[in-house]
Formats: sequence, structure tokens, C-alpha cells
Amino acid sequence: MVQKISTSAIPDVSAGEIQGSTYEIFDGRFPERAVKFSIIIFLFAGSMLGMGRQIERIWTDDQGRNTKALLLRVENGNAILQLPNGKESPFPIAKLSKDDQLWIQNYSQEQTKATPETAAETKLNFEDPWPEQVKFKGDPEILTVKEDKDSKTFVYESANYRYNCDVRLGSSVVKGFAVLFETTHQCVRELPLAVNGGAKKEGKYEIFLFENEKDYHSAGGPPGSAGVYIGGKNIVMVPLTSLGVKKAGSGYVLDREKSSKTLPHELVHQLTPNPYYAQGSMGWFTEGLAEYVAVTPYFSSGMFNIKGNSKSIIEYATAFGKDGTGGRGLGDKINLGPLKNFMLQSYTSFVGNSQVNYGCGMLITNYFFHMDRDKDGARIKKFLKALREGKQGDAVLEVLLDGQTWLELEKDIAKAYSSKGVKFTFTE
Ligand SMILES: [Zn+2]
Repeated sequence: MVQKISTSAIPDVSAGEIQGSTYEIFDGRFPERAVKFSIIIFLFAGSMLGMGRQIERIWTDDQGRNTKALLLRVENGNAILQLPNGKESPFPIAKLSKDDQLWIQNYSQEQTKATPETAAETKLNFEDPWPEQVKFKGDPEILTVKEDKDSKTFVYESANYRYNCDVRLGSSVVKGFAVLFETTHQCVRELPLAVNGGAKKEGKYEIFLFENEKDYHSAGGPPGSAGVYIGGKNIVMVPLTSLGVKKAGSGYVLDREKSSKTLPHELVHQLTPNPYYAQGSMGWFTEGLAEYVAVTPYFSSGMFNIKGNSKSIIEYATAFGKDGTGGRGLGDKINLGPLKNFMLQSYTSFVGNSQVNYGCGMLITNYFFHMDRDKDGARIKKFLKALREGKQGDAVLEVLLDGQTWLELEKDIAKAYSSKGVKFTFTE
């Protein structure tokens, strides 16, 4: 089952997950290296917030003494304050006045609030038709929130995203890549799969952009990756090169054709609701869905052509892609081993054999979306509804089987793909 594939054939889209698999695990636990990262990100966010989003107030301790300071964050029972001299200082919350303790409690609740905010995000859209094309309408409005050269803090916003960047970008550049973000957002929301997750902070999804790859890596971006979704923080980090942004003279320009598939892939993860990251679904479905969107032909004017995506999906899985765009290179004869094992394997195991598992995750997800039974996605929708009800593992896969045996389901998948020129087998 292990396919020998040369390193050069490994496309950007998987690289982060080959070497940095743990970064995508959505359980809030971080490996040692990521803990270090989370501190960096907190600091990063803290300094961003210090630029106008952060709150300066007069604090009173339990002895009635006052101090003016900026609240950077709350950590381990301490309020991390920035004093007027710029020094950071932890202060035990228990030693603050009752009023201040209450204030911090409210502040913390605000910070962790992760509720979907619009009607579109709370709606379960399982009954909607499958979109044929998703077009972004109009120019995205870009708001320049902060540009501070000294602290290298440049914050821009579009309708749904906040771009925290370490260099100044012209608004036309931001506008250019914001189209891809907003169109991906719209595409994911329009799929009738109730992909309505993701945690907004102050009304936006948080994106961190890095001018150079070195800074991206030192902030925790996995080696060789072109972008990463950090589940525990619900943020996506991307080096600017992955967006096609490059230096030109003293400023930056956007080469729209150069943006990689990694970005839509990671944005899908960011929008995927928590219940979908359960055993029985995490891996084959969560990565399959991300790949499904990423591989769907995208036009830089802001359009996903979903109707014509089947050919691209099969090509991407079986071949190495046209014009060096990458692919899983699995060939047209794929033996996956028993489907049940594939769907129930741990996430670590899933990313351990990434070419086969990502490629097949996408093919099988695509099967359930467009080729299964009446081609209406009915079974996968039942499966997603069951995940939302808290079912997982064997129990949720029983829902997916919907009365079939594993052998029958494998036969159906093999049959559907053989008509597309892919020979699937599921033997040990
Ligand atoms: Zn992924």
C-alpha cells in the first residue's frame, strides 16, 4: 500500500501535514514545539492588540492601590499587564479588586467567545442545491486597521478575515488575495454540508501572514509547508509567497497565478465545525473535504468551478498534475486496503502515509458528494448530521453504511470509479 514517491513530487498542499501533522489535530493539545509557538503567537497577538485593540485601564488591587496598565492577556491566573514603561508584568488576578476580577472574567469570556455570527453560519444548509459555480461578487472592501512600522504590525480586514501581517502591503495587494480568501469562504459555506464552523475573533477569522519563510517557521510553521491551520487557536498562518505576494522595489505586488492550493485547503479546516473532527471522520473526510475545495478549479477573478471539478479531482489523485501544479501520483490502480480501517485509522497514521491517504480521502469524499446512489449526497449528509449529534467511530460509520456491508460499499465505490478509469481495490 505504501507508494514510493519522490520528494519532488510531493506538492505544497501536503507538505505541512507530512512533517507537521500534529499541528492540525483539533484537540487543543500541542506538542512541545507548538507550545512554544502558542506563546509566540500570544505575544504576536498581544503586540497587535496593543496597537489599539488592547485595553488600557486603571487597575486597583485588593489593598486599594491603583496602577495604569495595558492588559495584554490572561494566563495561569495572572493578568499580564504592560506597564507605562513598556515592561510586561504578571499580576495575580486573585489580588485584584473584586470589580477588576469581574471585569477580567467578562473580558476572558469575550476573548473565548466562538459563536458563529451570521444567520448563514448558524443555518444547517443540508437542503440547499450543490453549487455549480461559486462567484465572489464585487471588490472586497479592505479596511486598514493598523500600520505601525516600529512594531512591524500591519493589520488589514476584509469582510470575514483579519490579516495580521509583518510588512506593509498596499491595499490593492490585500484586495487581490482577499478575493481568494472570501471566495473560499463563500464556497465552503455554499456546499450543502453545513460547514459552518470556525471561531471568529472580534468578528473575523484570524490569518497571520509572514514576509519571509524564516519568520513563518520560527512562529511554528512546519518545515516545507506553504501554510498551516492551527486547530487549537483557530488561526491560519501563511508565508506571503504562498499567496503570490512578492517584493518589487520598496513595496509588494501580487502575482495571482502563483498562489498555491494550500491556502484554500487550510481555510476549509478553519471553517470545519468541531463535530466533524471526530474519529471516523477526522482524516478521510476532513482532509478529503479540504482537498476537494483546494483541487476544484479556481479562477483568480474569484470563482470556483465546482461543476467541472471531477476531472481535476481524479487527475490530481492519480497523476502529478499539469504544469507542475502537483498531484498525489497514485496511478489509476489503487489498492487502499479495507475501507473500514482507512476510515477508522488515527490521524497520526493518516498523515503518516499522506500521498495515498490524502488522495484517497479526496476521491472517497468526492464519491459520497457526487457518485453515491442517487448522486444527491444523501448518505454523507446523514453521516454529518450524526456527527453533529455526537456520534463517532463505529457508530457514525454505521450511519454512513446506511444498511450496507463494508464489502457492498467498497464494491459501489469501485464500480463508480471504474467508469472514470480508476481501478479501486480494498484488499489487505
Ligand atoms: Zn489538511
